[in-house]
Amino acid sequence: MLSENQMENRIIPYKMLLKALSSTQELVERILPENGIPSLRIGLKYIKSVLENTIQKAREGLPIIGYHFALPAEYLSCFDCVPICIEGTSYFLATLLLGGVENYYDLIGNWGHPFHTCTSQKGTMGMTLEDLFRFDAIITPSAPCDSTCGSYGYFKYAKKFPTVIADTPFIHEKKSQIYYADEIKRSLIDIGKIINQEPDFEKLRYHVEIENQVLHKKTEIFELIKSTPSPIENMFNPVSAAATIFISGTPENLSFYDEMLNITKKRYKEKSHHGGEEHIRTIWPYMLTFFDISFCEWLDRELGLSILMDIFNYNFFEPINTKSDLNELFLGMSKKAMGFPMVKQSTDFYYPIIDDCIQMAQDYDVDCFIYTQSLACKQFGSIPTILREALKDELGIPMLIIEFDVGDARMTSIKKFKEKINLFVQTLL
Ligand code: SF4
Repeated sequence: MLSENQMENRIIPYKMLLKALSSTQELVERILPENGIPSLRIGLKYIKSVLENTIQKAREGLPIIGYHFALPAEYLSCFDCVPICIEGTSYFLATLLLGGVENYYDLIGNWGHPFHTCTSQKGTMGMTLEDLFRFDAIITPSAPCDSTCGSYGYFKYAKKFPTVIADTPFIHEKKSQIYYADEIKRSLIDIGKIINQEPDFEKLRYHVEIENQVLHKKTEIFELIKSTPSPIENMFNPVSAAATIFISGTPENLSFYDEMLNITKKRYKEKSHHGGEEHIRTIWPYMLTFFDISFCEWLDRELGLSILMDIFNYNFFEPINTKSDLNELFLGMSKKAMGFPMVKQSTDFYYPIIDDCIQMAQDYDVDCFIYTQSLACKQFGSIPTILREALKDELGIPMLIIEFDVGDARMTSIKKFKEKINLFVQTLL
């Protein structure tokens, strides 16, 4: 019989994450003025609350289920379990720890995993090599990318964690949505068999409904972001990405968006900008620098450059019908999951992302795009050049491309990012 301490030590990286979050929160509370970077202050409060709850569940001995971020976290609410986001752990420890999680990338690299795969998985892979996570089961879609499919084999075959894969269709048509609805349901039932639990789909409805309400608030926020100056600070992007990945389906996520909506409305009425003055409005159709999110603040304050959205934010879905039968519920869940960040953009041809970007550039009165091309995302390799041409031809808007690794500062440092953006900005003003 394991002690409570041994039970919670099945998820040591989540304990590291909680500690890092708590120290950051303390710094924020002590150093920043009361109204400084509200998204960070509010986000830390709610994410910390959910992480504490997660660790408590581990202490009680509930099964540990690792999930890919591309599977909405609330789908696991049909179980009494400890949900652990594999990619979120890598990236948010990279954000919060001094020096990031580079030693874990190196560990798994030295073990023999290819260096050019995604750091979102490599960090957690390195951690499991050291037995810092002890998963009872893992669930992942076969989306969004080859890197995901290639890396999850390590968990299944090298670490022998029972791994369930929901086969994600490539084409976004009605028959694909129905197919994926069946796959999601089948995967949850399979996970239930591994951990000896019957999935509680009534409980699932409740948590899916919370996300419907989150969607409503998020949509309102994004309507307000269309105004000039943008009423939201750049830091909202990485913090809301963390909320989407770690705490979706919880009352805390709803409270986060509720508080953010109130702040956004107030700033909209006052026409105030977080950095003082807005000079440039940008969309980052891909990712931010998770290895250093203070960069968001630098862009706001030093350049007056607003990041209106990144890949984790421009994914909206139809509210899911939670009142009808299970088929309808799973169909809604399937549509949402197929439109989830990165899944939407990666599991289709390039036309939808080009169309979305052109439409968003018009709706949000954007001056330019900044496209961060990650080494790992092979499936995205052809997009930047085509998108740059489309934005130029259709709207006369320029786009800067920066190659980087989202979680590893050693590839393109923040210093280099600043130099490239400074030079680019000079061509705009
Ligand atoms: S799409 Fe790119 S960033 Fe996302 S998981 Fe795959 S390789 Fe990583």
